[in-house]
Amino acid sequence: MKKQFFPSPFSHELAITTSIGCRNNCSYCPQDRLIAAYRRRSSVNRLTLEMFKQYLAKVPPYVDIHFSGMTEPWLNLQCTDMAIHAHQSGHKLAAYTSLVGMRPPDIARLAAIPFKRFSVHVPSAGGHETIALDENYLEVLQQLLSSDIKATYHYHTGKLHPGLQALLGDRAGSATLSTRASNTVLQGQSPPLHHRGTLRCSTNLRTNILLPNGDVLVCCMDWSMKHILGNLASSNYAALYRSQEFLRVKRGLKDSSSDVLCRSCDTAEDFSWRERLRYHTDIRRYAGAIYRLCARLWQA
Ligand code: SF4
Repeated sequence: MKKQFFPSPFSHELAITTSIGCRNNCSYCPQDRLIAAYRRRSSVNRLTLEMFKQYLAKVPPYVDIHFSGMTEPWLNLQCTDMAIHAHQSGHKLAAYTSLVGMRPPDIARLAAIPFKRFSVHVPSAGGHETIALDENYLEVLQQLLSSDIKATYHYHTGKLHPGLQALLGDRAGSATLSTRASNTVLQGQSPPLHHRGTLRCSTNLRTNILLPNGDVLVCCMDWSMKHILGNLASSNYAALYRSQEFLRVKRGLKDSSSDVLCRSCDTAEDFSWRERLRYHTDIRRYAGAIYRLCARLWQA
């Protein structure tokens, strides 16, 4: 179990799943679980720009919008329009993309957005992803590299695709994989055991996933849709954190006998008394930063 960092207690993030089903078909991704669970609830497989605008109107501007979700976001051709709309609505943005589905003109439009993070998942050697290095893909990548977007590049399974070596070289780094709370099996990696004791969510239960039909999942580990906090088509953002399901997950973090997803999460953190002490030390630091900011505003 990890014990290394605490996020700001004030950050809220909503990751957008723009469509159901992903043609990248990465061998380490549990897409089949999401598709099976989602089909039982909805036939709305694609988020339209209009639906996105309706959902976003219920999301306060302090919530950062991440174009990542559980499938490649740019497989939806309206993804760039959604990003521009979210930016114009006052949200901070991040993108986590394989670039699949993106077209060269998208890069110029996206370059006008000050992304807090633009993370690109590039294919690895060994054929673990179904990502064709065709003319469009290479053109998009080249344009991104020469644009003002400060992107980072990573690959999984240890080795970069040889077809990208000349373009990316040392710019791309190897990243580890997670079992997504035991939703996928990874070669040579045992799934997390049932964690015991008091846990803390590494994203503070505030990095949620929006699906095309408006359902909001607790986090990016929830590929079987075990914890649906609510639906932005029928309720508002604040209601997600008052829902029975949210409270059940929150209680489950303190209860070893609970079967919430967090008990098998790869990133859940120990929140024993010793760790809590560290956390409260951090809170004091946040409080100090807020005090300094208020003092500066008062003097201005
Ligand atoms: S499974 Fe639980 S602890 Fe892990 S990221 Fe999701 S909400 Fe947080």
